[in-house]
Amino acid sequence: MSVRPLTSGCLFMISAPSGAGKSSLVSGLLKLEPNLKLSISFTTRPPRPGEVDGREYHFITANDFLIRKNRGEFLEFAEVHGNYYGTSKLLIQEAMKSGTDILLEIDWQGAQQVNKQFDQVASIFILPPSIDALEERLNKRGQDSQEVITRRILAAGGEMAHAPEFEYVIINQDFDLALSELRAIVKATRCRTSQQIVRNAALFAQLGIQTNTSF
Ligand code: 5GP
Repeated sequence: MSVRPLTSGCLFMISAPSGAGKSSLVSGLLKLEPNLKLSISFTTRPPRPGEVDGREYHFITANDFLIRKNRGEFLEFAEVHGNYYGTSKLLIQEAMKSGTDILLEIDWQGAQQVNKQFDQVASIFILPPSIDALEERLNKRGQDSQEVITRRILAAGGEMAHAPEFEYVIINQDFDLALSELRAIVKATRCRTSQQIVRNAALFAQLGIQTNTSF
C-alpha cells in the first residue's frame, strides 16, 4: 500500500535510456531551481573520467553494496547494465522532512519501487526524438567503451517500453524546450493542493480554510 508522505518536500523521479540527454537536462534544471537537490546514489560502477566520488555517485564495492542492502539502507536499488545502483533511505527521509525537494535520477525498476512507497511522487521519463539520435549522443559522449555503448543501445528499447508507467513524458528534441517543460513540471508539482496544505499549513489556518488530510 502506498502512503502519502507527511513532509513538506516534493519528491521527483526522472528516468531515461542512456543517451536521451537526461544528465544535461538535470544539471540545467538544478541551476534554475536551487531549492531542488539531486540525490547522490550509491553504485558499484567504476567512475568515468572526470567523475568524483560523492559528487556524481558514491562509488562503492559490490561487497559494501550488499552489506548496505542487507541492512535495509536503500529506499530502492536495481541492477542496471551489469552494475548495482541504490538510493539512500536516510538521506531522502531527512531531506524531505526538512522541506527540501529531492530529485532521484533512477531507472524504471527503481521508479517502480519508489511508486509503491509514496503516492505523491512526480515521475518523468525522457525520450529521445529517435533511435538514431540516441546512438549519436552515446557515441559522441566518448566516455564509455564501445562494448558499454553497444550494451546500452541494446537495452534502450526495453527501458523505453516503461515510459507509459510515468506521470510525464518529455521528448528531448530541442534542449531548451525540454528544459522548460521539465521546469514547468517542477513548478506545477510544488503547487499541488496536497503539497501546499503541508507547506503552508499556517497560512491555510490563518485564512480559515479547513483542510481534509485524508486525500
Ligand atoms: P550511469 O551509469 O549512466 O550513470 O547510470 C545508468 C543508469 O542507472 C541510469 O538509467 C540511471 O538513471 C540509473 N541509476 C542511477 N542511480 C540509480 C539509483 O540510485 N537507482 C536506480 N534504480 N537506478 C539508478
